[in-house]
Amino acid sequence: MKPGGGGKETPKTLEKPSTVYTVQCGECFKWRLIPTKEEFEDIRSKFIEDPWVCDNKYGVSCEDPEDIEYDSSKIWAIDKPNIPKTPVGFERILVLRKDFSKFDAYYITSTGKRLRAITEIAKFLEANPEYSGVSVSDFSFTVPKVVENTIPRIVDGKNGASRGKKKKKSMIKDDDNDDGELVD
Ligand SMILES: [Zn+2]
Repeated sequence: MKPGGGGKETPKTLEKPSTVYTVQCGECFKWRLIPTKEEFEDIRSKFIEDPWVCDNKYGVSCEDPEDIEYDSSKIWAIDKPNIPKTPVGFERILVLRKDFSKFDAYYITSTGKRLRAITEIAKFLEANPEYSGVSVSDFSFTVPKVVENTIPRIVDGKNGASRGKKKKKSMIKDDDNDDGELVD
């Protein structure tokens, strides 16, 4: 079964200090900004069983104008739904390769160690019994897919501006410009 076949979809990701997280309402299909990575990860972790709607955002309803438009002014990446919420004591980092081809995911521990594979996670958990409540299944190296027609180089070559063909995907946007700021 394809997640979000009915229009309620997966969150999206691209990470940089300028990253913007956005999710699509399952009812009106408008894009809403999600203010923090933590909140986004929370929404993403239960996206299938608990689809997101505008009412979940404080003071917002489906009547309100869209927070952000899905277009090629920024790079968009589509995240997978139901990625486990990052366990306390870890941070999940996504890095976009310089050629925009794909993301790499890793976790940083509270001591600053980088873990880049499930095997490294398993080793770390074994060596650190204080994380006994955490299991390898709480980690995921599934990375979001970069939306090709929002990659800048393609826009240069092919005039791919303003094509919102994947309107129904929930996403996180990478925001290199100053528009599309996070909302308070
Ligand atoms: Zn809505």
